[in-house]
Parts: sequence; C-alpha cells; structure tokens
Amino acid sequence: MPKILIVGAGQSGLQLGLSLLENDGYEVTLMSARTPDEIRAGRVMSTQCMFHLALEHEREHGLNFWEAETVKVEGLGVSIAAPDSSRALDWVGKLDNYAQSVDQRVKMAGWLEKFEERGGKLIIHGVTTSDLNSLAGMYDLVVVAAGKGELVQLFDRIPELSPYTQPQRALSLAYVHGLKPRPEHPDFSAVRFNIIPGVGELFIIPAYTLSGNCEILFFEGIPGGPLDVFTDNPDPQEHLDRILSLMRQYLPWEYDRATEVELTDSRATLAGGYTPVVRNAVGELPSGHAVLGMADVVVANDPITGQGSNNASKCAASYLDSILANGDKPFDRQWMKGAFDKYWEYAQHVTIWTNAMLQPPPPHVLEIIGTAAAKPAVARRFANGFQDPSDFQHWFLDPDKAAAYLASV
Ligand SMILES: Cc1cc2nc3c(=O)[nH]c(=O)nc-3n(C[C@H](O)[C@H](O)[C@H](O)COP(=O)(O)OP(=O)(O)OC[C@H]3O[C@@H](n4cnc5c(N)ncnc54)[C@H](O)[C@@H]3O)c2cc1C
Repeated sequence: MPKILIVGAGQSGLQLGLSLLENDGYEVTLMSARTPDEIRAGRVMSTQCMFHLALEHEREHGLNFWEAETVKVEGLGVSIAAPDSSRALDWVGKLDNYAQSVDQRVKMAGWLEKFEERGGKLIIHGVTTSDLNSLAGMYDLVVVAAGKGELVQLFDRIPELSPYTQPQRALSLAYVHGLKPRPEHPDFSAVRFNIIPGVGELFIIPAYTLSGNCEILFFEGIPGGPLDVFTDNPDPQEHLDRILSLMRQYLPWEYDRATEVELTDSRATLAGGYTPVVRNAVGELPSGHAVLGMADVVVANDPITGQGSNNASKCAASYLDSILANGDKPFDRQWMKGAFDKYWEYAQHVTIWTNAMLQPPPPHVLEIIGTAAAKPAVARRFANGFQDPSDFQHWFLDPDKAAAYLASV
C-alpha cells in the first residue's frame, strides 16, 4: 500500500489528502503547522473566491460542506475610476455558474477534522527541511503543499517562467459586515473589480466567514503608490479605517455602500505581498530523496485574478489523477515531472494571463473592457474566463485575436 506524506494543510494539501482517502489502498499522513482550533482563531489568509470548475472538484469529493450557507457569486463586475474619482466605466458580466468564497479559516479547520474522520493520519508539526530529510525515506511519495512558506526553498525558481523579481502589488484587505446592497444589481451578488489607473485595484468579494456571510474589501496597490500604506501593520480598526478612507478618496461609489461597515472579527485584516514565481516541481533533499511541490509552492501568482485557490484545487485534482494512474509503480522523479507537466498544461495559461493583468492594460484590452459595457456577450466571456483562464489565449491576450473577436460579436 503506497504511503504518502503531504506537508501543508491548505487548499491543495487537504483536498489531495481527503480525495486520496476516498480510494482504498493509500496510507495518507498530513503534517499541519496548526490545529483546527488554531486555524479558526487565527488571522484571515486570503479572499479565496473559487469559480465553478474548482468548486466542482470539491463537490466531487464531498467537501462542499458550506455550499448551502455561502452567498452565491453570480457575476463579475468591472469599474474604472476617472482622475476626478467619478466612475468612467461600469458593467457586470453574468457567470454561467456561481462562484463562492469560504473563509479558509472555516474551510481548512473543517477539512482537517474531516481528514481524521476519513482515516488520515494527522501530525501537528511545523516541518523543517531537516525533518523532511529524515522523514522522506519512510514514504513512497512526499508532496510539499506548504504554500509560500520557507519550504519553497527546496524548489528552484525557473527564471524564464518568472518575469518578476519583486512583488507587483501591496495587498491589504478587511472582512466586513454591514456593506449596503449594491444598487446597480441588488438582485444578485458579484465580485467587483474596481480599477484605479496608475494606483491599483479594489476588489469587493462576497464571502462566508466564521460569523456568516460578509464582504471582503481587498486593495491591490501598486508598490510605492497611495494604496501601499499598510507596512506598519496597523491594528485591525485602524487598518479598516485606512481602507475606508482610500475608498472614499478613489472610489466614492463603493464608499457610499461602506459607511456602516464593521470588521467581522478581530483577526479579519491582512496586509502583505509576494513575488509571482514558477518553480521546478521536483525538490531535492540533502539525503538524495526527491519531493514533489504542489500548488503555490511551485506556481504562485499574484491574487489580482483570484486564481491561487482555484489553481490549488485544480492542482490537487490533477495530482490525484496522476497518483491513481501510477498504481503501485514507484513515484520517482520522472513520475513527479510528468505529474507537474500535466498540471502545467493548464496552469501556464493562468500564469500568463495573471502576469499580463499586473501590467497597465494595452490598447486592445481597454477596447475589450470598453466594448463589454455595451455588449453583454463580451462581459460574459470575460467573467467566465475566471473559471477557466485558458480561454483568454483565444481572444484576450493577443491584439489580432481580440480585434477578430470584437468584430464577430
Ligand atoms: C490576499 C490574498 C487574496 C487571495 N485571493 C484569492 C482569491 O480570491 N481566489 C483564489 O483562488 N486565490 C486567492 N488567493 C490565493 C490563495 O489563497 C492561495 O493561492 C491558495 O491558498 C494556495 O493554496 P496552497 O494549498 O498552495 O497553500 P496554502 O493554502 O497557503 O496552504 C499552505 C499550508 O501549509 C502550511 N505550512 C506552511 N509551511 C509549513 C511547514 N513548514 N510545515 C507545516 N505546514 C506548513 C500553512 O500553514 C498552510 O496551512 C489569495 C491570496 C492572498 C494572499
């Protein structure tokens, strides 16, 4: 019976572990730095909006425990702020199937408890490279799913696939209750992508947290610009006050909805940033054992396109298929490389699109965004691209293909 060790209890590690346990014949051990209660009592980690194809993986493995309570995200809206803070453009595209965002504190804590119920072996331990070095020989396969933690150093950065060497956005967010309904479409919820040219973006994301449904106010600020003002780690209320004051200045139509908001809890704020990167998926331990990197460990994109949890879910699903297809054969370096290459066939499209979205929009993208205001089909295609970004290569990323598409709608 293959013995598999997964390090890291996030979206990818837990989804893989829980889905493996549905198949007889695997002994699965998961190492988590924190207990479920510590995760619930900790700080928010993400905005984690997940689109239909990723949610389908959770449903397939009976992991969508919060689906009924969680607000359904049925559209994706775009607004652009003019220099005088008026709204130069505004539209919403309907999603063919709804998206949802379950606070990772809720989801990962619940999934960890489920992991033990399904017969997995859980070890609460923050793993070091030297731990892995001595543990690896006891398992047939070691998967490192530790997100952006220090263990990424086991995996070499691939420079030709990693165009950035510094963070491209300063991230800052707050989970809130009390946001007033969106007047443009009070009948359904949508993620809103507010662009402030030259300054950054504000995303507003309906979500489910420890205290029920809420909304997340999430700024992506261009480094050194006016939104990059959270490095002093303000206390939670000051953090929210700063977000609100920036909303009032740059996006008054969103601020008007936010005059009565309050934090969902005392750990509901986050600030930071990281450099997008693609790494070699096979890591080498000093003992000579190879380990397989998973999800953010090997492909970490900026959250500007909200794809990291979606990628993590798709990576877990893809690795599950590769593990099952391998049967009792050895999980050697060649198998590891093949498993990653299969995932990368998809993930490359997310990476190319996300890296492009970090740059000022080229003329053909501005034309697409402008046309979407008049043509719902364009808005709809853009919105639905978030569930499968491989579509963007066919119409969004290339000026000639964009022109041909716009001429056809
Ligand atoms: C501000 C922000 C907003 C985001 N918004 C979205 C969004 O809207 N949609 C979306 O799809 N994605 C979003 N993402 C990205 C998403 O959160 C991540 O890409 C996703 O969680 C990655 O999953 P993972 O399994 O690779 O790692 P993680 O979910 O980060 O899990 C890694 C786990 O490993 C643990 N760990 C780390 N080191 C060790 C160790 N040494 N020993 C043991 N355990 C360890 C960590 O504690 C953690 O539990 C956002 C990210 C950020 C920062």
